[in-house]
Amino acid sequence: MKQYINRRIMIIASAAILMTAVFCTFACYRVFREEVKENLRICTRLLSDRENIQDEAVLSKYASELYNDSIRLTLISKEGDVIFDNVARIEGLDNHLNREEIEEAIENGEGYSIRRSATINRTNYYYAVRLEDGSILRTARESHSIINIFWNAVPVILFVILILLVICYFSSQALTTNLLAPVEAIAANMNHPETIHTYAELEPIIEHIRNQHNDILDHANLRQEFTANVSHELKTPLTSISGYAELIENGLAGEDDTQKFAAEIHKNADRLLTLINDILRLSEFDGLKESDFETEEVDLYDIAGTCLDMLEFKAREHDISFSLEGEKTLVTANRNMMDEVVYNLCDNAIRYNRPGGYIRVYVGDHKLMVSDNGIGIPPEYQHRVFERFFRVDKSRSKRTGGTGLGLAIVKHIVTLHGAELSLESAPEQGTRVTIQFPDN
Ligand code: ADP
Repeated sequence: MKQYINRRIMIIASAAILMTAVFCTFACYRVFREEVKENLRICTRLLSDRENIQDEAVLSKYASELYNDSIRLTLISKEGDVIFDNVARIEGLDNHLNREEIEEAIENGEGYSIRRSATINRTNYYYAVRLEDGSILRTARESHSIINIFWNAVPVILFVILILLVICYFSSQALTTNLLAPVEAIAANMNHPETIHTYAELEPIIEHIRNQHNDILDHANLRQEFTANVSHELKTPLTSISGYAELIENGLAGEDDTQKFAAEIHKNADRLLTLINDILRLSEFDGLKESDFETEEVDLYDIAGTCLDMLEFKAREHDISFSLEGEKTLVTANRNMMDEVVYNLCDNAIRYNRPGGYIRVYVGDHKLMVSDNGIGIPPEYQHRVFERFFRVDKSRSKRTGGTGLGLAIVKHIVTLHGAELSLESAPEQGTRVTIQFPDN
């Protein structure tokens, strides 16, 4: 990446430098041309103002001075014959009337041209002025063409280009290093992107990485905590099973005890099964997306009815009455998951209730509500009951066959269905859990 940026900068810089050199040469050439023209004009004007300028002697005097300054001086008669020239021999010179500057001078009093001289075969600047008697006084100066100027300047231009390229090379190195330093720093220090000094444009990316990183950490922590909890939860019933089995194995249990111990082993094994079942359900939901399971139109009223039928015996056992109110309401959902949600909520409403209490299930308007007048949940724990393995009263939960995972499973399923879960509760008064499905 660095090399790519450097190369790009160097290419752009070289092109810019080269273009600048060419444009500068052109600009210099224009200034230079104007300068030469102006000099020739002043010189010719001054000479033409001289008295007796047409005298051979006067002309010769100026001519030799001008010759030293590389200025050619020519006097041309109004017929176009060259009368005097300080550079070329006048014999054999052709008629000059058709020269551009002469034509112009005859017409306008003065004329100017740049062309290759037919006489001396070089690029020349000419300035001609018409004298009073109609003859023409002309000065000329050999000059370098633009290519000449350019070639003369080539060593300087090359030198400047070289220096500029060296400067560009080092500044582009410095620029890319500065530019990429924070990016490299982030790559090297993914764990603590907040410690890196960046510039404003990079902040959103850092923020994103930071959030993602925190999410990953949170997730890892949750997983670790969950694994620790699972091991702990499994250990308790297994230790009991192992202990009772050992007693029987060693013949330490009498006949009565054996039966009692076997019942304990059975109870704990059941508990293990329930736990494993719940853990498996949760981990199954973990990687699930809404599109990963089958959905159909299900009637919540119907599901609640079936669920209460299943729990009827248990409710009667605990001396708890129940009622189902509301009407048929269709939602798009997975039937098994919905069965599980309603069962878990109603089961909790029985288990955390008191003899003589009630459960009310209301269904309607894409909503399912399970209320009870049981022991309720203290406000400080209400937001935690959906956490895995969280239990307000651990012994009560265990005694009644709870795993601490029921509401976590409910929450998972509800979220997967895009529904809203809410809980209202008051200690000693009761609890109400509401699930609101989306309207469509
Ligand atoms: P558990 O298997 O322990 O019932 P849940 O995840 O279903 O686990 O519930 C977590 C905790 O929330 C329970 O241990 C209990 O303390 C509390 N809780 C759940 N439902 C009710 C309810 N209807 N009334 C009072 N407390 C409840």
